[in-house]
Amino acid sequence: MSTEKSGSFRDRIATVDASGKRKWIFAQKPKGKWYSARTYISWFFFILFFSLPFIYVQGRPLFLFDVTQARFIIFGKVFWPQDFFIFGLAMITFIVFIILFTAAFGRLFCGWVCPQTIFMEMFFRKIEYLIEGSAAEQRLQAKAPWTGKKLFKKTAKHTVFFLISFIIANTFLAYIIGIKELGKIITEPVHEHVGGLFSIVIFSGVFYAVYAFFREQACTVVCPYGRLQGVLLDRNSMIVAYDHKRGEPRSKFTKKETIDRGDCIDCFQCVKVCPTGIDIRNGTQMECVGCTACIDACDAIMEKINKPLGLIRYASENGIENREPLKYTGRMKLYTVLLSILLIILGFLLFTRKDVDATIMRTPGMLYQQRGADSISNLYNIKVANKTINSIPLQLKLEGVSGKIEIIGEHNSIAVKEEGQGAGTFFIVLPANIIHTRKLPLHIGLYNGHEKVDEISTNFLGPLAE
Ligand code: SF4
Ligand code: SF4
Repeated sequence: MSTEKSGSFRDRIATVDASGKRKWIFAQKPKGKWYSARTYISWFFFILFFSLPFIYVQGRPLFLFDVTQARFIIFGKVFWPQDFFIFGLAMITFIVFIILFTAAFGRLFCGWVCPQTIFMEMFFRKIEYLIEGSAAEQRLQAKAPWTGKKLFKKTAKHTVFFLISFIIANTFLAYIIGIKELGKIITEPVHEHVGGLFSIVIFSGVFYAVYAFFREQACTVVCPYGRLQGVLLDRNSMIVAYDHKRGEPRSKFTKKETIDRGDCIDCFQCVKVCPTGIDIRNGTQMECVGCTACIDACDAIMEKINKPLGLIRYASENGIENREPLKYTGRMKLYTVLLSILLIILGFLLFTRKDVDATIMRTPGMLYQQRGADSISNLYNIKVANKTINSIPLQLKLEGVSGKIEIIGEHNSIAVKEEGQGAGTFFIVLPANIIHTRKLPLHIGLYNGHEKVDEISTNFLGPLAE
């Protein structure tokens, strides 16, 4: 519990004492409308998280983030290394969105959607309450000597924590390698999947360590988004804020009404429920993850003492100071324009993205070949990436010019497997009488049956000087 008084604000994070030792947070279980809403949202999130890897569309996962093969599937669409500029742009768009969102709504993401907060507060902490009892009981137990009962409770809690971490680790891995591959790791002989099993053990260990021991430190010490709050937030951003105008001067509750007393009765309920151990009455702090637990705790107190709710509420600093409503500032407008431009470009790139990507290059070191008395040929190499789930027998046709293409090999096409790469070599043969320049620009159409899937430009090297 924080004991900071105004005028003597701390110079260290709330979970570290003066000697630098970790202060364990025994957060009291919140109760109220915000906590209920967060519970419903987190259950929706859990269902989504644990079920998405099982969803397949046309034999392909709906989402896959296969970093090992640099292959991503998002809403059933495959993205290859060739698409990485789209991915890069999507990342930039996402970052701008985060900046805009944070400037406007503060740490709403941390409190309501971030997997760290949601798993910690809505899963692991609830299990802890179930096994070890309320925050007060946990605090007593921590101070008490080791007994059979304490050992049993601790063992039970850590066993359940590890099992859940193991399930989370498996699900997490399913997003990377797919549920089918994960099934093989689980069911096939150990020696065939040593790397996969190693990953599961490492992921399980990391999740267990984070939720059992590291906890809120992930938000206050490690998370880069948390550390950026200082530059992202301004006085107009929406935050979980204490209305000091209304609350101060705080004093212990008495039934006697006095005119110089604020609404805060200094009951510390808002501090007791805080999972990062801070006192929101000290103002906006880097450790606040916007979880709303203090809003619920304070509203319950206000109800009991017959005062209006919302002494702690969602508001901006200017809103509290000057009684102003939330504002759409110049900075937010600029971010919105930037975000709109990025979204338009991203949408265009996604919409015009081709299912087949090809590169054609004239074979290095070769000039041209004389073909009989009236034709000239050039030799080319082609590389093709097929992003569809069907294999393609790719045919090549010259566009807008007479001549022919001779693909070297058995068939007059280049076979490219589904979601695979293909390569081939071919001649372009042109009548000599149409070549009037040293480098003749050409267009080659790529066809899957009658469907034109792409068109590539190249040059044809002729014998004439420019
Ligand atoms: S819960 Fe409300 S009344 Fe109690 S200390 Fe916090 S702000 Fe003051
Ligand atoms: S100050 Fe309030 S909103 Fe912020 S982390 Fe603590 S309980 Fe959650």
